Amino acid sequence: MRIDPHTHSSCSDGTDAPAQLMAAAARAGLDVVGLTDHDTTEGWVQAAAAVADTGVTLLRGAEISCSSDGVTLHLLAYLFDPGYTPLAEALAHARNSRSTRTRRMVELLSADFPIGWDDVLAQATDAATIGRPHIADALVAAGAFPDRSAAFAGPLATGSPYYVPHWALDPVEACELVRAAGGVPVAAHPRATGRQRRLMPDETFARMAQAGLAALEVDHRDHNPAQREQARALAQRLGLGMSGASDYHGAGKPNRLGENLMPLELLDRIVSEGSLPLLAP
Ligand code: AMP
Ligand code: FE
Ligand code: FE
Ligand code: ZN
Repeated sequence: MRIDPHTHSSCSDGTDAPAQLMAAAARAGLDVVGLTDHDTTEGWVQAAAAVADTGVTLLRGAEISCSSDGVTLHLLAYLFDPGYTPLAEALAHARNSRSTRTRRMVELLSADFPIGWDDVLAQATDAATIGRPHIADALVAAGAFPDRSAAFAGPLATGSPYYVPHWALDPVEACELVRAAGGVPVAAHPRATGRQRRLMPDETFARMAQAGLAALEVDHRDHNPAQREQARALAQRLGLGMSGASDYHGAGKPNRLGENLMPLELLDRIVSEGSLPLLAP
């Protein structure tokens, strides 16, 4: 079984519409794909409609923005009830806060780069979650940078004077909310240092484990071999499962579908603990 449980569509910062993502998953030879857009379940219906045609099974999820003490963490959540109000409200709050701060960043950037808010909106046609990746696309379209990665290495970096933070859930509270919504939480790329200098401390992962965290994403391209080893050791110490995924963003990142996979036994556990079924052809 080829299971890639962490991907993004154009409903957040991927470039494939959900149905295109399902078709790309079929071409990549995947049996199961997890759609995990940032802070939104907007793409679920469109992706579900493509299951029969593509023959790919859909694992419904989202990637929830969290932060604690200025350190950010992404929490993957699977098979939760999207109508559970406390979680739905937290996701809406995160989307709104991200969008407000994205406007503020564009105001700051427009003093030095040839972009305005309309240029960013033009890069986010069906995105429910607007963020830095869309600013990056606007900067690329304006010819200021060759690609997203270059824009992220420059003015969009967290240490840059143009960077503005946004509100995000506390990671322990997020685990509780996901479980309360009938879902299963998995920490995304917990040891990736490319995005920020400080990492979430082990003690926070221990509290997340108490709050229902099911697994850590170990195999991810943002982890080098030493970081994979650290993530594996932490998962073992806390009695957590281990996942792997591509974090595919279409043309937005070099990540390729299926480059890392989730073991079947973890998927089985997520399905048995989650409140929604997989959507199979
Ligand atoms: P935001 O939540 O608006 O601060 O943007 C964070 C998102 O930007 C992440 O979810 C990533 O998908 C994306 N991102 C972070 N670093 C990079 C990078 N170096 N290249 C492309 N996309 C990135
Ligand atoms: Fe992203
Ligand atoms: Fe992430
Ligand atoms: Zn992701």
